[in-house]
Amino acid sequence: MPRNPSNLHDRDYRAEARRFATLPHPIIDVHAHVNGARAAVLLREAMDLYGVRDIWSMTALEQAPAVREALGDRLRLIAMPDFASKDRRHAHGQGFLERIEGYHRAGARICKFWAAPRITDFAIELGDPALFRLDAPARLEAMQLAERLGMSFMTHVADPDTWFATRYADAARYGTKRDHYLPLERLLDRFHLPWIAAHMGGWPEDLGFLSGLLDRHPNLHLDSSATKWMVRELSRHDRDALVDFLRRFRGRILFGSDIVTTDDHLVQAEGKTEMAAKASAPEDAFDLYASRYWALRTLWETDHDGPSPIADPDLAMVHPDRHGTMDAPPLRGKRLPADLLRDLYFDAASALSARIDARASKA
Ligand SMILES: [Zn+2]
Repeated sequence: MPRNPSNLHDRDYRAEARRFATLPHPIIDVHAHVNGARAAVLLREAMDLYGVRDIWSMTALEQAPAVREALGDRLRLIAMPDFASKDRRHAHGQGFLERIEGYHRAGARICKFWAAPRITDFAIELGDPALFRLDAPARLEAMQLAERLGMSFMTHVADPDTWFATRYADAARYGTKRDHYLPLERLLDRFHLPWIAAHMGGWPEDLGFLSGLLDRHPNLHLDSSATKWMVRELSRHDRDALVDFLRRFRGRILFGSDIVTTDDHLVQAEGKTEMAAKASAPEDAFDLYASRYWALRTLWETDHDGPSPIADPDLAMVHPDRHGTMDAPPLRGKRLPADLLRDLYFDAASALSARIDARASKA
C-alpha cells in the first residue's frame, strides 16, 4: 500500500488538531476551491477542527448551491471562468462575461483573473499566444464588467521558481518570471480597487521583490495560499526577515490554503484527472484537506523543524537525481508573534471583507 502523499508520517489529523493553541480569534481562509456536496462536508470538519471559520472559494458556479448548503454563510464565492469547458476561447472570453454576472447574482463580490504561465499553452492552442495575457482585450472587458458590478479582484500571476527552472524554462514561450509582473503592475494602476495576488503574489521566494510590489501599489494584498509551495519556500526564509516583512505590510497579507475539494476524492475511478486522483476514499480526502491546515498552522505558529508531512514532487522535478516524488522539504515553523498571527489569520481578511462589501453595495 503506497503511503498517502498528504500524510507521510501517519498522523491522525483529527487528534493533532487539538495540539494547536486555542486562538482568541477565528481563521479566515481566503483562497480555496471547494466543490462537491460531500467533499465540502469533509472540509467543514477540517475547518472546524483547525479553527477556520470562513472560506473564500473559487467554486464552479453550478456547484455553488450544494457547497453553500454545506458551508452556509461561511462561504464567500469568488467568480472564475468555466475551467471545465472544452471551448476555452469562449470560456475565458465571452463566456466569462456571462459567468461573472451569474456569480454576481449568486453573491460573489470578488472576481479572479487567472494568469498563470500555463494559460499561454491554452492561448497557443487557439493560435494567438497573447490571447489570455492579463492585459489582453478579452481580459480588460471582463475586468471592466467586474469593476462596474462593484467587484474586487483576485489574480494569479507567475508560479514557483521551481517551475520556471523546469516546465517554463522556455522563456521565448512563457516569458521570464519578471515579465509576468509588467501587465499586473499596469493593471494595478488602472483599476483602483482592492486586488489580492494569490500565492504571496507568485513570488514567496523573493520578499525583496514583493516589498517593492507592495510599496508601489497600495491597493494590492497578497494571500499566502498554496500549501506545498509556501511550506517549501517560506521555511527557507530567516524568521526575522519574514516577521519584518509581515509587520511592514500588516493588514495586506492574508491567510489562505488553496485547498481543492471535489467529490471525485471520495471514490475510486478509472481515468481520473491529476487533481481528482489525489484521493480515492473519504479518509484520504480528509487527510488531503486537513494536512493543509496542519502544515500551515505549524508553519505560522510553531517552531517545528522537521520534514513536512506532505510530499512535494517539485523536489524531484528540479533534482531528479537527488529526490523521489514522495520526498518532502523541511518545514521550519516561524512562530509569529500573536499580533501578527491575528492580522494574518483574521484581521486583514475581515477588514478587507468589509471594504469589498462596502464597494459592492455602492455599485
Ligand atoms: Zn487556487
